[in-house]
Amino acid sequence: MIQKPKGTKDILPGDSYKWQYVEEKAKEILENYGFKEIRVPVFEQTELFERGVGDTTDVVQKEMYTFLDKGERSITLRPEGTAGVVRAYIENGMASLPSPIKMWYMMPMYRYENVQKGRYREFRQIGAEIIGTASYEADVELIAMANETIKKFNIPGVTLNINSIGCPTCRAKYQEALKEFIGKNLDQYCDTCKTRFEKNPMRILDCKERKCKELNQGAPVILDYLCEECSTHFENVKKSLQFLNIPYVIDAGIVRGLDYYTKTVFEFVSETEGYTVLAGGRYDGLVEELGGQKTEAIGFAMGEDRLIDIFEKYAKEEIKDTTPDLYIAYIGEIAKQESMNLAFELRNRGIYVETDICGRSMKASLKYADKMNCRYLLVIGEEEVNTKQAKLKDMKTGEEKEIKLDIESIIENAK
Ligand code: ATP
Ligand code: MG
Repeated sequence: MIQKPKGTKDILPGDSYKWQYVEEKAKEILENYGFKEIRVPVFEQTELFERGVGDTTDVVQKEMYTFLDKGERSITLRPEGTAGVVRAYIENGMASLPSPIKMWYMMPMYRYENVQKGRYREFRQIGAEIIGTASYEADVELIAMANETIKKFNIPGVTLNINSIGCPTCRAKYQEALKEFIGKNLDQYCDTCKTRFEKNPMRILDCKERKCKELNQGAPVILDYLCEECSTHFENVKKSLQFLNIPYVIDAGIVRGLDYYTKTVFEFVSETEGYTVLAGGRYDGLVEELGGQKTEAIGFAMGEDRLIDIFEKYAKEEIKDTTPDLYIAYIGEIAKQESMNLAFELRNRGIYVETDICGRSMKASLKYADKMNCRYLLVIGEEEVNTKQAKLKDMKTGEEKEIKLDIESIIENAK
């Protein structure tokens, strides 16, 4: 038997309502904050991610699904959403639209990961981007929205961690200090980290290797090196979060896995599961890096698979899959015609109706209706069709009622 590729999953019909629930709720919040949906290609030119995400990141160095297409172009399945969204922003001249542009997306992402709990090779993200403002108020609005989204799903034990990773100005000084610290033990770091030392030493702080993590203990933190502008920006973000009663913890260790981040970075971490459910930050240099005008921006991405894993554990009871409002069971050819007709019309009127399409006996039909948890049951034969009267059974209470066999009467009684 052919099996699905490692790190992917099938979202089965019996589970999809959970995904729909999360997506609908998230969408509602996003739209209330003025975000509009954007959809971009599943694959892009490889160079977009090399430049956008950064060629010293884990994502680019180890995790991309890259291949040559039949025209010998290097193509990559998107590992994240922001680079594609920013490319679309530039390519479609969105800079000339009223600013800022607020966009959201729900898209599957592809990374060649070490598959483990909460870490897949195909996973879905719900993301949001605000492009065209450098103001700290945008950071606050975005973090508040992320916070609301997490709250909406009643997931316990999620902490908001924030940090500032400064701008190229503060980073220049910081990287010197960091290189001095790391340089002392460079020979003990992993090979990937060694290659990052000259080009992007901050990346070493994000290495997942145990040995490197240990060596990184006690490294200088960027918060001590922020320039005045970055420092004021961060102070304002913190003050506003306090004002909005959004609890947070400063985590000077957050550097984020993608190169494009500047200033504010944040992660919503599940303490119970030990992983991040939502992460984001400012990326003031990315639009320019990808060929646009200098345009400041901020965004986040929520790991939908992780969110649902936690949701299943703690809050699943809150939602249920839909079950049929009505099952119409019939005996005989005439009643079958009538049933199909009724089912068709009732569905048009917004009622969830099932009737037999498998040639089942009456007994088998009733059994099926029961298994499907149908709310009401209508049984019709030739006599019911002729007299235009039929019995409607409430499957919850067992109560039976004689009703007129027409659309209006069914709608009135079966709700
Ligand atoms: P990590 O440090 O856990 O690898 P990351 O920095 O690579 O995370 P981002 O690229 O910022 O993660 O992605 C944002 C969110 O998307 C993560 O917080 C997580 O919830 C989710 N995510 C990232 N990679 C995966 C994956 N392989 N499987 C499932 N969800 C993921
Ligand atoms: Mg990662």
